Amino acid sequence: MESLSGKTGIVFGVANKRSIAWAIAQAWHRAGARLAFTYQGERLKDNVTELAASLSADTLVLPCDVTRDEEIQQVFATVEKHFGGLHLLLHSIAYAPKEALEGQFVNTSREAFRIAHDVSAYSLVALARAAAPLMKDGGSILALSYYGAEKVVPHYNVMGVAKAALEACTRYLAYDLGPQKIRVNCISAGPVNTLAARGIGGFTDMLKHYEANAPLRRNVTLEELGATGLFLASDGAAAITGQVIYVDCGYCIMGMQTAAGGS
Ligand code: NAP
Repeated sequence: MESLSGKTGIVFGVANKRSIAWAIAQAWHRAGARLAFTYQGERLKDNVTELAASLSADTLVLPCDVTRDEEIQQVFATVEKHFGGLHLLLHSIAYAPKEALEGQFVNTSREAFRIAHDVSAYSLVALARAAAPLMKDGGSILALSYYGAEKVVPHYNVMGVAKAALEACTRYLAYDLGPQKIRVNCISAGPVNTLAARGIGGFTDMLKHYEANAPLRRNVTLEELGATGLFLASDGAAAITGQVIYVDCGYCIMGMQTAAGGS
C-alpha cells in the first residue's frame, strides 16, 4: 500500500460519512497521514467532529466557509501551529443555488453564476495560496470535478461551467506551484449518491444511465475514489500534476450511448 507516513493533510468538504471527502480522508488516514478537517457553519460541526474523532482523538476540526478569507487565514494559521507544516490538501467543495440547477442554463442569474464560481472554483485558488507556504517539502493538492465541465450534462448547468473553471485553475496552479514541488490535480468522479449530488435534478436517473452505459457497467464506489485520492497524494504520483483523472468506470470515453438508464 502507498504510505503517507509522516505526512500531514487538511480536508475541506466532509459533510457526512457518504461524502467523497470522507472516503479520501479515510484512505489518507489508513496510509498514516495526520489530518485536520474543516466544516462550514454550526450545522455540520457535530457530524464532522464525530467522524474526525473516529480516526484519532487529537484530530483538528476547524470552521471554514471558503467564501471568507479571514476564516481561511485562521485555518492555516492553526494548522501551522499544530502541524508545523503541511503536505496534503483536499478540496471537495461545490455549491450553486438550487434554482440554477433546475431549468435552462440560459436563465442562470449573475448572482448564481458568481456564487457557484466563488464557492466551487475560486476557493481552490484561495486555499492553494494559503497552503503553499506551509508545504515546505512540496505537497499534493487535490480537487473534485465532474464530466459536466467538458460536456453538457442536463441539469448540471452552471456547476458544469464552475467545474470547467476549477479544472483550468488546477492547471494554472500546477504551473505556478510546480517549482515548489507542489502538485495540483483533479479527480473527475462518476456520480455518487451524496448530499450535494441530491441537489442535482434527475440524479437517480443519472446513476442508472451510468450503470447501463459505462464500459464497466456499474457506478464508481467511494472506496475507489479513496484509493485514487491516496495514489495522487502519494510519491507514486510524483510526476503527475495539472491533470484531471477520470474515475468513472470509463463513462467519459463513450461517444455514443445505447442503453437508456431512465427518463
Ligand atoms: P457532499 O458530501 O455534500 O460535500 C460537499 C461539501 O461542500 C459539503 O461538506 C459542503 O458543506 C461543502 N461546502 C459547500 N459550500 C461550502 C462553503 N462555502 N465553504 C465550505 N464548504 C462548503 O457532496 P460530495 O458529492 O462528496 O461533493 C464533494 C465534491 O465532489 C464536490 O466538489 C462535488 O462537486 C464533487 N463531485 C461529486 C460527484 C457526485 O456525484 N457526488 C461527482 C463528481 C464530483 P455544506 O453541506 O455545509 O454546504
